[in-house]
Amino acid sequence: MRVGMGYDVHKLTDGRKLILGGVEIPCEKGLLGHSDADVLVHAVMDALLGAAALGDIGKHFPDTDPEYEGISSIRLLEHVGKLLEEKGYVIENIDATIIAQRPKMLPYIENMRKNMSEALKIEADQINVKATTEEGLGFTGQGQGISSHAICAVEKYMNFSSFDVTGDMPACRGCCGQNPKGEKGL
Ligand code: MG
Repeated sequence: MRVGMGYDVHKLTDGRKLILGGVEIPCEKGLLGHSDADVLVHAVMDALLGAAALGDIGKHFPDTDPEYEGISSIRLLEHVGKLLEEKGYVIENIDATIIAQRPKMLPYIENMRKNMSEALKIEADQINVKATTEEGLGFTGQGQGISSHAICAVEKYMNFSSFDVTGDMPACRGCCGQNPKGEKGL
């Protein structure tokens, strides 16, 4: 098992939509950013990329690239899911926290989980989203911005197609020294 962590912050400003986990949340202010500034999805993507040693979202989706201007971060999350799949990783679980003084996140959390799990082609119960305030302290407490933390676990899957399943199974020479029955190999 491998783990990854992600953290992101965006500034709250007038004239922007507030989008978290792909859900548009009614609020007089929204988050400022090159994309839709979905701080929750950004933290989740960085956790996933970190677990797979694939760098960070700045490397994959530079904020200087006009292609990503105003883009839905859920579309970027789909791409990150494909990158992990190409590297042979499956997602075990993701746990994330939104830190915001307001608005109340609870009514929107189930839809955030649904949007992210569909983008990653995993079950909703593999993603947990929590929200907290910082009791009026600091930049989140004073309503200047919203931050998010995320952590994830991934597993590299083994390709058993190279094993001879008609006779005695040879041991895996690549990683674990075991054959597919779980018996110790050569
Ligand atoms: Mg960001």
